Amino acid sequence: MDWIELSTQKINKVYYRLFIKHCYICNRESNRTLCQHCHEGFPKNEQHCLHCKCPTQTPNILCGNCQASTPEYQLCIAPYRFEGIVKTLIHSIKFNQGNHYIRPLTQLLSEHLIQAYSSDSWLDQLIYVPSHPNRIKERSFCQTKTMTNHLLKNLRQHLGDQCPQQARQNPLRKREHTQAQHLLRRKDRLKSKTKLYEVTAPIAKHVALFDDVMTTGSTIESCTKLLLNAGAERVDVWVIARTPDKEK
Ligand SMILES: [Zn+2]
Ligand SMILES: [Zn+2]
Repeated sequence: MDWIELSTQKINKVYYRLFIKHCYICNRESNRTLCQHCHEGFPKNEQHCLHCKCPTQTPNILCGNCQASTPEYQLCIAPYRFEGIVKTLIHSIKFNQGNHYIRPLTQLLSEHLIQAYSSDSWLDQLIYVPSHPNRIKERSFCQTKTMTNHLLKNLRQHLGDQCPQQARQNPLRKREHTQAQHLLRRKDRLKSKTKLYEVTAPIAKHVALFDDVMTTGSTIESCTKLLLNAGAERVDVWVIARTPDKEK
């Protein structure tokens, strides 16, 4: 092998590393964080309740829960269903420290958010639903906090000064370990969850509440209530994925 061949190989290697990006899931060449093939496999939440975005059989209806009592948040953004590849990636972040997948997931959410808000309707502050301090110790990180940091980084690139702010300390705190919530009825679950969180700092008038997954919606509903009681005038909910309510 002569030196020209050798140096060409070296240059190719450097070029490849610098300019050719790879899909975060399958490692194929891709100039986005996910290649088209992997992105197409994401379960889109296209048929859902008009308000809480829980997946439904019939499009454009209010689900039973929202008809009985409409959650107080103003707008819910939940672009994917919590199943298939989305479920695998979020589980991997939560339990196996697959932090690698935070970037593509939060990038996709930020793209949906940018489409959903007009340029003058962005909110003042982004607050996340925190894990319990003991759980953070066990896992050595709080996934919603890390996801929020990534989300804000993406949004800031597009919005600049209009980007929602994040307080140095998240104003929402979790107090106790979650009990077996799935054994409680919805009403009792809401009541018990309200006691699990507290607002520990002043919050802005228009806030977005972020969580990775919304399941029954009771955590989000009770945190929304707390934020409204603490002085927020409007709360919007941002989640990556939504699961159907198991009570239906
Ligand atoms: Zn891929
Ligand atoms: Zn609903």
